[in-house]
Amino acid sequence: MRLTVIGCYGPYPAAGECCSGYLVEHQGSAILLDCGNGVLGRLRYYIEPWNLDAVILSHLHSDHVSDLMIMRYAIMLNNIRLDKGMLNVYSPGEPAEEFNRLNYKDFVKAHAVTAETKLNVGSLKISFSPAVHAYMSNIITVESEDHKLVYSGDTEYFPQLTGLAEGADLFLCEANYLRKDIEKGLPNHLAAYQAGKIASEAGVKRLVLTHHYPERDLEISRNEASEYFRNVELASAGSVYFL
Ligand SMILES: [Zn+2]
Repeated sequence: MRLTVIGCYGPYPAAGECCSGYLVEHQGSAILLDCGNGVLGRLRYYIEPWNLDAVILSHLHSDHVSDLMIMRYAIMLNNIRLDKGMLNVYSPGEPAEEFNRLNYKDFVKAHAVTAETKLNVGSLKISFSPAVHAYMSNIITVESEDHKLVYSGDTEYFPQLTGLAEGADLFLCEANYLRKDIEKGLPNHLAAYQAGKIASEAGVKRLVLTHHYPERDLEISRNEASEYFRNVELASAGSVYFL
């Protein structure tokens, strides 16, 4: 399995960067996890959007979704040209107004997922577990025959998160906050030290921090996570990980 970081900022990008988007490829299958602002243009360095097998959204906040509103035009115009089928998008079904906006004519079809949903895309198996966030959001697990990627989406800390990360070859975990933000009681996101602690307790092989807050020195995030986990990695656009 190959993971390529397309964009890794939230809730808005640093200069020249984009928000959440992660390309996962395995044995000829390709899925995009989240499709935030700026993702489409960078994605095209690696794959054309009409060649994706699916887009899977952790949740419907705009920094994870907004480029789908542009990708629909690329899908429409090229699927006609190339006689391709529709693009399937999998997402939590709420808020309903945001979910319904994902559908576009006969070209983009949205499917609501729950904790019971099991997707098969080629030989990849994808499953979902509820996160704790302002919008309904999922922890997404992507498994090949012998490897496992766990993506946190957006979530604040909850005790079951450690169990969900267990066995991950790579844990792609949001770290929007620092310790001082958690001490102030800020909700909805994890701090880097929490990502490090979860990764350590879950025994994951690699920890990659993402959903970077654009006004922060990321080395502070890395240092806080490193109190708990050795060799903390920072997502950056274009970085590629082999699982
Ligand atoms: Zn969010």
